[in-house]
Amino acid sequence: MPDLPEFIQYLYEEYRSLDSGSLASYIPELTKVNPNWFAISIITKEGEVFEVGDISENFTIQSISKVFVFGMALEDCGRQILLEKIGVEPTGDPFNSVIRLDENSKRPDNPMVNAGAIATAGLIKGSNPTDKLNRMLDMFRRYIGHDVYIDAPVFMSERATGHRNRALANLLLNFGIIDRNIEEILDLYFQQCSIVVNCHDLAVMAATLANRGINPINQDKAIEPCYVRDILSVMYTCGMYNYAGEWAYKVGIPAKSGVSGGIIAVIPDRAGIAVYSPLIDHRGNSIRGIKVFEALSEEFQLHLLDFPLEQCPFLDISHRDPIRRL
Ligand code: GLU
Repeated sequence: MPDLPEFIQYLYEEYRSLDSGSLASYIPELTKVNPNWFAISIITKEGEVFEVGDISENFTIQSISKVFVFGMALEDCGRQILLEKIGVEPTGDPFNSVIRLDENSKRPDNPMVNAGAIATAGLIKGSNPTDKLNRMLDMFRRYIGHDVYIDAPVFMSERATGHRNRALANLLLNFGIIDRNIEEILDLYFQQCSIVVNCHDLAVMAATLANRGINPINQDKAIEPCYVRDILSVMYTCGMYNYAGEWAYKVGIPAKSGVSGGIIAVIPDRAGIAVYSPLIDHRGNSIRGIKVFEALSEEFQLHLLDFPLEQCPFLDISHRDPIRRL
């Protein structure tokens, strides 16, 4: 089994020349990043950090925010209310699809697609829009370990071009999932997507989930530990757009990606991993990101459902224990 720092350096060299995919352009402002940026960060629950590449380059968090706002809504409203409003079924549809919401369920399938995330934003408590936003920023600060801010041009760009999201919000109002303050809810959703992070920040956030809600760097509690299970469940089944099934099968770790090119993954009780590379495939997943995670999972046997090797006579038990080494 390779040494972890050497292996991520190898992955960085191996995949940095992979330039297939494209920048998300349906939000015009997202095209203003360097397509070559590439970073890998792994942070253990003990706070050990392994990273390589463009770790400090900033980008907007986009859909990865859905994971954390879902956790916040769980704390604000509890499981029962959330389940009444938003399901936990994978869709197999594109993240911004309108069709199933209208045809089938009349409620969003899960909180990781846009319809579900907009409904989730509508559940965030606060006395007025500023209060809700400040509570949300504070939640992200606890996960990341420093103050966070919103990229105003990206927010304005999303707000100006987010017609599908507006359509979803109108359908959600029609089905009684959100109230009449559509523009206010959409603004909160666009703001959460426009929060600025870097690859290191994402790994700290993932490591916080791996560490049952306690930030492993500063020991701040980011979320009630009882809700981490809920978050990881929907990440595992719904986190990678309409690639979630294949990801669960091949990589086998709860994960979430965003159209700006980030992917986070959580190895419960072990480590958080983040990869950033803004060239994405037609589903919205970072192409280099998927390659890196496939290789990491394979090499360090990270698949959560891997057959216990003790029971498998064909495999050498000494190869086990990779996650503990992280
Ligand atoms: N803000 C983006 C949207 O709503 C997020 C998309 C994503 O990262 O999946 O379209």
